[in-house]
This record gives sequence, structure tokens and C-alpha cells, in this order.
Amino acid sequence: MLVAILKEARPDETRVALTPDAVKLLTGKGVSVAVESGAGVQSGASDVDYTGSGATISSNRAELLATADVVPVVNALPAADQEQLKSGSVMIGFLRPLDEPAALAAAVKRGVTLFSMELVPRITRAQSMDALSSMATVAGYKAVIVAADHLPKLFPLLMTAAGTIPPAKVLVLGAGVAGLQAIATARRLGAVVEAYDVRAAAGEQVKSLGAKFIEVDLGGLQTEDKGGYAKELSPEALELGRQAIAKAAKTADVVITTAQVPGRRAPLMISTAAVEEMRPGAIIFDLAAPAGGNCEATKPGETIVHHGVTIFGPANIVAEMPVHASMLYSKNVSNFLQLILKTGELVIDRADEIIAGSCVAFGGEIVNERVAAALKPRA
Ligand code: NAD
Repeated sequence: MLVAILKEARPDETRVALTPDAVKLLTGKGVSVAVESGAGVQSGASDVDYTGSGATISSNRAELLATADVVPVVNALPAADQEQLKSGSVMIGFLRPLDEPAALAAAVKRGVTLFSMELVPRITRAQSMDALSSMATVAGYKAVIVAADHLPKLFPLLMTAAGTIPPAKVLVLGAGVAGLQAIATARRLGAVVEAYDVRAAAGEQVKSLGAKFIEVDLGGLQTEDKGGYAKELSPEALELGRQAIAKAAKTADVVITTAQVPGRRAPLMISTAAVEEMRPGAIIFDLAAPAGGNCEATKPGETIVHHGVTIFGPANIVAEMPVHASMLYSKNVSNFLQLILKTGELVIDRADEIIAGSCVAFGGEIVNERVAAALKPRA
């Protein structure tokens, strides 16, 4: 049984799928682990650290691809790599199956079993495998730190002999995992924080962190699905939210946006007109940029200045915190691997809710209905 850890192909990726700690757990069970030389360097894990955990190091990527039984990744392997995988092997990672299903075609054709970390069900037993929450935690923190660094103002209230500095005002849109972490971080730095979310349950959490919750009357509209996620809102409900946000944004120094609806484009919450009403020098940090952005003026992957407001639209913010992002992600993947490598051999129990929920392809077929639907040409 061979697990191979490869260098990530995406140019802006600095994370590694499994850290030496996770490797130790596998080699302790008699699983062989081979690491492509340098795979962990950017996240603080050297080849020597990996050999210390019982792995072997190789510079022969093609051989690793052709011989591995399990390939944990951060991002899906490129098609040219997928074509070299063994039939019946397993690739597991952030495979973006609902966003880019066609990018997995080569692996499906090879009969590779695909597990998506995004699709791990958010049930209690799978909490230790919740990589979305891990990355959202890192992203929410980093967004505030970057925004505070760029803001031409201090965050906390300071009373000095030269006068009183009022606290910065931070507005957080979307109070899920990333939003709550952003609120907590901004509060720790001394800012006054307001937040908005369509899920009523988020209100209590926002208040418990010492922030003000912006209430918008959506006329009793059902905004949550069975899984506790936000639903896609009607244009009218979205517009009501946008009006309340535009009002709060006028006086904000920093706006952190995190709102997402799984499998859909991120909802538009700040219009360009609202940006133009903001204070010069203000900052918008759009964590939803990879899903299209919450701000109309956001340019995904870029930092721009519009009407004196700096708008960050990072494509991969967690890659700027590779040590802890890798540590958390590796733990999540390692916990998932315990399910399929319990005995040190590969056993895929498709009746297991976590395995069934996260499995995208098996035996050359797409087995996830939503992914299959996403692949169908739109009428
Ligand atoms: P997410 O990344 O999908 O979205 C971020 C936030 O944006 C959510 O709070 C969502 O309600 C909000 N949002 C979406 N559309 C909006 C709009 N038009 N206006 C305002 N806000 C909008 O969410 P997430 O952080 O992954 O969390 C989603 C839910 O899952 C939350 O209820 C969270 O508490 C829950 N959760 C559960 C577990 C678990 O049980 N293991 C783990 C993590 C999260």
C-alpha cells in the first residue's frame, strides 16, 4: 500500500496535503509513504522531516503517479498527471467537483476513485475531517490581518495625551466560519464590528463575539436549507440586504465579505455604487473572490483601487499561511484516510455516510448526482 505526496502543481499553492505528523501515523500502520522531493518545503516540512517520519523521498513524479494507491492532494492533479494514475487508485483533496467537474475527466476515465474534501458531510462524526471549516478559519483571520496592515489608521480606541483615536469600524458580511473568525480577530485588535448574514442563527453567534448584528426584515423568508447552509435568495431579498449593507458600508473602514452559497456563484452584496459611497482609504477584503466575489467591483485574483477604496480579491488567501493551513488540512485528510486505510489496506465501504457523501467517482463512473448534473450541458 503506497501513499504518494506530490508537489502541488498550482503555481500559487504553498500548502502540502500531508505533513510529517500524518505520515508518521500511516507508516506506523505499515503503509509506505513516498514524498516528491520538496513537496513540503513551503509549508515548513523538509525532505529530512519526512524521512524522519518513515517516508521515502523521490524526484521521479511519473513513477510516484504510476505506483501510488492513494494520492492525497490540496488541489486536483492536472489532467496530464491524472492520466498517469493507476486504475483503482484514490485521489483525495479539494477537487472542486461542483465548480470544475470537467477538470476531473481524465481521472474518472482512468477508473480513479475520487473523494472531495468539499463534499465531506458536515455531520458530527466528520467534524475532524471538515477541511472547509479549517480553511475558512485561516482565511477569516488572515483577511483581517492584511486589512489592518493596509488601513491607514489604527484599529483600537486609543486615548493619548495628543488626543483620542476612535476605533476602526469593521463590517463583516456572511457570518459562517470565516466571518465569525474575522469578527473575533477584528474584535481582538480593538475594532468596533458589525455583521450581516441571512441565517437568523448567525445573529446570536455574532452578538456573542461582541459585534452588532444588522437585522434585515426579509418578511419571514426561509433562508436556510436542511443542512444549515444559506439558500440562494430571490433578487428582492438580495436587494434588501444590499441596501442595509450599503448604509453600513458608508461609515466602515474595513469590509470583509465571506458570503457563499455552496455550488453557486457568490451572492452580490456590495454594488459598485455602494463602493463609491465609501470613505476614501477604506478597504474591502472579498474572501468570496474565488466564487466570483461579493462585491461587484472585485477582480478575482487582483487587488485594485476603485474610487479610493482598495479591494482585495485573493485567489488563494490560505496559501499565505501555509504552515497552519497545511497542519489543519493534513489533520483533516489524515482523519479521512483512517476511514479507508483502517487496517493499513485500502478498503472503501461505500455504505459509510462520509465515504458515500464525499465520493465523486468510483469504477470509472461519476457517482455523485450533483456532480453528474453539473456535467450535463445546460439547456
Ligand atoms: P459558507 O462559506 O457557505 O457561507 C458563509 C456565510 O455566508 C454563511 O453564514 C451564509 O449564511 C452566508 N450567506 C450566504 N448568502 C448570503 C447572503 N445573500 N447574504 C448574507 N449572508 C449570506 O458557510 P460556512 O462558513 O461553510 O457555514 C455554513 C453553515 O454550516 C453555518 O450554519 C455553519 O455554522 C455550519 N457549519 C456546520 C459545521 C458542522 O456542523 N460540522 C461545520 C461548519 C459550519
